[in-house]
Amino acid sequence: MTFEPAKRPLTGETLESLTASLGERGEKPFRARQVLDWLYKKRARAWDDMTNLPKGLQAWLDATYTLMPAALVLNRQSADVTDKLLLELGDGSLIETVIIRAPQDGVGLDHSRKTICISTQVGCAMGCVFCASGLAGLKRDMGAGEIVAQLLQVCYAEDKRTPRARAELVSFDNIVVMGMGEPLANYDALIRALTIVNAEWGLGFGARRITVSTSGLVPKILRLADEPLGFRLAVSLHGATDEVRTRIMPVNKAYPLAKLLPAVKAFSERHGRMVTLEFILIADVNDSVEQARRLRDIALDLHAHVNLIPYNTVEGLPWTRPDAERQAAFASVLDKAGVSVTLRREKGHDIAAACGQLRLKTERERAQPQPDDKNSS
Ligand code: SAH
Ligand code: SF4
Repeated sequence: MTFEPAKRPLTGETLESLTASLGERGEKPFRARQVLDWLYKKRARAWDDMTNLPKGLQAWLDATYTLMPAALVLNRQSADVTDKLLLELGDGSLIETVIIRAPQDGVGLDHSRKTICISTQVGCAMGCVFCASGLAGLKRDMGAGEIVAQLLQVCYAEDKRTPRARAELVSFDNIVVMGMGEPLANYDALIRALTIVNAEWGLGFGARRITVSTSGLVPKILRLADEPLGFRLAVSLHGATDEVRTRIMPVNKAYPLAKLLPAVKAFSERHGRMVTLEFILIADVNDSVEQARRLRDIALDLHAHVNLIPYNTVEGLPWTRPDAERQAAFASVLDKAGVSVTLRREKGHDIAAACGQLRLKTERERAQPQPDDKNSS
């Protein structure tokens, strides 16, 4: 399921594909690089900003491409560390892109480390019972151009907030593919988008600072391990036994732990980097000491980092987070065994939690903007 816009998004073109399409029109190869330079480096917002292109070429580009396929509807700058950009795609679908600032001592929020969380699908088909993104099922895959556009919109917003140093193309430090959707279920668009983000003619952003999070599509994890660009991997585990995992994640029926864990191990051995296991703590579902012990054994075997995330309540769903004491008890089982583990207690500050539950709110807000929303274009 994809959306075929009347005009192709420029943000979905690679240097190669744009050179070919301009070549068909009889343009010299250097023109493609010029266009992409305007887009990513000089941040042109309109075709006639691209002043070194002939007018005829500007008009042809305008008739053929959309310069920006995701329009900014709202930039919700919270007092908190997360900002959310609400974006509207060509077919009216709404998605959210999140900017998460990690407060650092002695450094203002504008200069602290920034992680950008992007979406890859409108909705999600995986049906995890705790997740807002999947509640209404999958509407459609996002195209590569729409995935890239989220990062360019972040650049526009951040350029306004803090003028960037000349040498620096982007002001953020990490990208996590943890927004709406299962990225590995939209594999080709994901890889094309990340290739554009990484390329020196694109945003020039290091693959090692990009983390792809999956609910556990085993064949695609193995395929990702073979990609020439070494992206990082996070796996949403959320259950340390098949019994618990199957209850909350239907994907575990197709890819139970006996298939998933060896694939994660293969990925990590291939890359020589630690994989992250995401584990949401949901009261009375997966927060027992027994689950903690199983998770400890899995993490030790995979030499993986464990990120414990107290569950964020979703309106209309019955799940809750365990109390702080129970969270700490769970974490200490891992910690005592020497597992690298993080447990964040501040509400909403965790990256996966901040971006893992976007769909419902976005759909509601379309009809009813919040009073404290700040409009900006
Ligand atoms: N589909 C991918 C990536 C998007 S979800 C995946 O499942 O990994 C990003 C993360 O947010 C996942 O770990 C997901 O399980 C988590 N998440 C979803 N709903 C959440 C909630 N209500 N509270 C905390 N984390 C949540
Ligand atoms: Fe989809 Fe990830 Fe939510 Fe599961 S947790 S429904 S895979 S977005």
